[in-house]
Amino acid sequence: MRWSAAHIPTLRDAPQEAEIISHKLMLRAGLIRRLASGIYSFLPMGWKAVLKFQNIVREEMNRAGAQEVSLPIVQPKELWEEAGRWQVYGKELGRFTDRHEHDFCLQPTSEEAITDLVRRDVKSYRQLPINLYQIQTKFRDEVRPRFGIMRGREFVMKDAYSFDLTPEGAFKSYEAMRAAYRRIFERAGLRFIPVDADTGAIGGTKSEEFTVLADSGEDEIVACTKCEYGANQEKAVGVISDKPAAAKTGGAYEKFATPGLKTIAQLAESQKCKEGDLAKTMIATDTEGHCIVVVLRGDHELHELKLQTHLSQKMKWKGVRLATDVEIQNWKLPKGSLGPAEFPVAGATVVVDDALSLEAPYIVGANEEGFHFRNVVFSRDAKVNHVGTIRRVQAGERCPKCGNALEIKRGIEVGHVFYLGKKYSEAMKAEVLGEDGKLQSIEMGCYGIGVTRTIAASIEQNHDEWGIIWPLALAPYELSIISLGEGEPQKKAEEIYKTCLDAGIDVIWDDRSLSPGVKLKDSDLVGIPYQLIIGEKGLKNSQVEWKERRGSKKDLWPVAEAGTRVVSEIQSRRRENRIPS
Ligand code: ATP
Ligand code: MG
Repeated sequence: MRWSAAHIPTLRDAPQEAEIISHKLMLRAGLIRRLASGIYSFLPMGWKAVLKFQNIVREEMNRAGAQEVSLPIVQPKELWEEAGRWQVYGKELGRFTDRHEHDFCLQPTSEEAITDLVRRDVKSYRQLPINLYQIQTKFRDEVRPRFGIMRGREFVMKDAYSFDLTPEGAFKSYEAMRAAYRRIFERAGLRFIPVDADTGAIGGTKSEEFTVLADSGEDEIVACTKCEYGANQEKAVGVISDKPAAAKTGGAYEKFATPGLKTIAQLAESQKCKEGDLAKTMIATDTEGHCIVVVLRGDHELHELKLQTHLSQKMKWKGVRLATDVEIQNWKLPKGSLGPAEFPVAGATVVVDDALSLEAPYIVGANEEGFHFRNVVFSRDAKVNHVGTIRRVQAGERCPKCGNALEIKRGIEVGHVFYLGKKYSEAMKAEVLGEDGKLQSIEMGCYGIGVTRTIAASIEQNHDEWGIIWPLALAPYELSIISLGEGEPQKKAEEIYKTCLDAGIDVIWDDRSLSPGVKLKDSDLVGIPYQLIIGEKGLKNSQVEWKERRGSKKDLWPVAEAGTRVVSEIQSRRRENRIPS
């Protein structure tokens, strides 16, 4: 491509709307433009990067035995009602009614459509296993679309779905996808970790997220400083090594006055102890109005989703959340003096975070304004129904796998693998005849990659003050030839440009009649990994300049060798990055 004929509208400054670096650089480098909130057009350079990543995804999916299909973006309500998601998905599902008053939605993901496709034609265990995928536009009416294409409303996702006869088969498919994901993100040059994750609205029982580490990431990741353990905070567990010792016989259980002390900080100060030595109590409820008593260490924070998941698994309760002040008043409970001992609401369920010891003595509220109990031992003095990790795990807690310290990092979720089991196949009657001649529901898994989000995530990890630094595998162009000045530089550049084209190098030649400063800055901004700079001064010594965008390494090459040398250089970099020629 000649730059003079290309559409690369670079901007000197980032528009106000952009908050994070990848969004700023994508706008400045002329990769994307906003059409509406969370809805973006890709310009040629941006789309080239997307296509390069799509090809990596496609190659690795095919290599893992998955087959590409294309499902409709527009899907009928009836299909979505079969698995019950028309109601559950809420406002994030984009819906519309056609001229015949039929309801439709825009695919946010496609478990229903793929299950329907498979149940129509797959009738025997002999047709299994299969894995089908698509790389397609998705729509989710996100509450807060932000950061450009990082959290868009319209975006490109690769979604794959595996169908197996048995759970063992499904786990094999899951592992194959997991391995393919590793290869995909490695080839794309990303620094990532797979982490245990909550299964969310898609459902299922086992799931892992592939997370790209970046300070701007929206996800909180708990990772071990030594071993491979990593988990999204939604799912993370930590081991507390300094739980208080079990109660000895001394220290009587008694009520004492704590007038005016409403917060844990005030109570700790009055008792001359640390907040972490105390237990704090909160009230939660669910869609059916259960009274849930939640007990945590004084210095810990509740993770509402973990509580929700815990009670949905153990009790099948839905929509668990912290109770409002009004709900707490309706139970006649004093907000500043709550505790699990002698709890006054009949039938309440007590959930204790596992950072607390059930055998140690704690101070807790007496459920009476201005009073607390001391020496409350939960195993003796409270009716504890559930113990689990419902807190936000903190840095310094111990790794559940190896016992070393955990740390907290920020990450961007770029991929997600789920073992679904029979959630969709049972609801939608996707059945096959087994070897024994009996009908059985198919075992499923689903596997997503945020294709457009990955491009943004890559820029979050690869940039400097001058602009984007593309990893070779995603770079819109591998090489930019920059001719400075008309005449001889232009002539030499054209020669080398043609040599590169003939050798299959993805090259752009900046042939514009602009100042060297502007041209060099543009190449840096759009982040082409390698540059060949041809100027009059250098040519006087029969030299051209080779520059690597990352690390700004420079070299002078004899002009006579430049064509062949640049081709072999790029080819060898491809091999290092395992990019097929
Ligand atoms: P998040 O927690 O970030 O909302 P999710 O759990 O809803 O993601 P999945 O349903 O697992 O996401 O979708 C598969 C992949 O699609 C995600 O791993 C992510 O990379 C991508 N993705 C999800 N939502 C968006 C979005 N709004 N914009 C861009 N990519 C997205
Ligand atoms: Mg989401």
